[in-house]
Amino acid sequence: MALIIDGKALSRKVRARIGEEVKELNAVQERAPGLAVIQLGEDPASTIYVNSKIKACTEAGIESFGYILKSDTSEEELLTLIAELNSDPRVDGILCQLPLPDQINEEKIILAIDPDKDVDGFHPFNVGLLSMGKQEALVACTPLGCIEMLKEYKIPLRGKKAVVIGRSNIVGKPMAYLLLRENCTVTITHSHTPVAELPELCRQADILVVAIGKPGFITPEYTNPDQVIIDVGINRTREGKIIGDVDFESVAPIVHAITPVPGGVGPMTIAMLLKNTVTSYRRRVAD
Ligand code: NDP
Repeated sequence: MALIIDGKALSRKVRARIGEEVKELNAVQERAPGLAVIQLGEDPASTIYVNSKIKACTEAGIESFGYILKSDTSEEELLTLIAELNSDPRVDGILCQLPLPDQINEEKIILAIDPDKDVDGFHPFNVGLLSMGKQEALVACTPLGCIEMLKEYKIPLRGKKAVVIGRSNIVGKPMAYLLLRENCTVTITHSHTPVAELPELCRQADILVVAIGKPGFITPEYTNPDQVIIDVGINRTREGKIIGDVDFESVAPIVHAITPVPGGVGPMTIAMLLKNTVTSYRRRVAD
């Protein structure tokens, strides 16, 4: 049976560590780190995510400023709020919960957030820094959490073959850049990768990161016994169960290490949001 990479336990550890760090900073600084969280409308899934982010902030001693706006808020109103938060000295990070309603252009919102407060790591400035391999980039929380897990479990990265399935701006691409920054040899695959080639490409990987949003897509023919698998997928079955993109039952017994779903990548994502907020705070108070 594979080593199970326990994202839940690791996230608790990382969050406790961040809490200690914040306590030490608060003892010498005039203010706590601050995160502004914006949500438009009351989509139940978004509400769960936003509440868990606010709760995690509170536990770590990070001040949170919640803005729950009506779902028919105009783009102009949202841009005005973002401009205010950009210049608010108490705010180190601004997070706008996606997806946004149809009347709002998501790209415009991402561009409006000050790159120094872009704790989601979606602004082209931060994406650019990451693509240049710069450490100072604020990096998207989910792929950052994946790398943190690999490092905490001391999985060797340098010179290893990594395959990323999925090329979204939120997960696949930043994941590939992070692996490249760790000196892996990286292959990115997507929906145009010939179906017949994908299993063989994946079998060659030392590290396989799966972020496609297709339940149980990865079966034993995509794996090898020395492989480490990071399953980013979150899919809900008809019975309401949350499962990953990897068929855990058939794959876990035959690979070296694997993240479970739930309890793998998901919890690490929130821990990285706290990490990015504290990084941004440290830079601000050092200015
Ligand atoms: P997107 O839908 O934006 O991207 C999916 C990617 O998978 C696309 O690049 C697509 O290719 C590719 N893809 C789709 N089908 C195939 C296929 N048959 N073979 C190869 N590639 C394929 O999804 P996200 O990146 O936003 O999310 C991926 C998964 O991760 C989802 O389940 C999501 O819920 C989960 N997720 C989990 C998070 C967490 O915290 N754990 C956070 C964010 C996402 P193409 O570009 O060609 O269309």
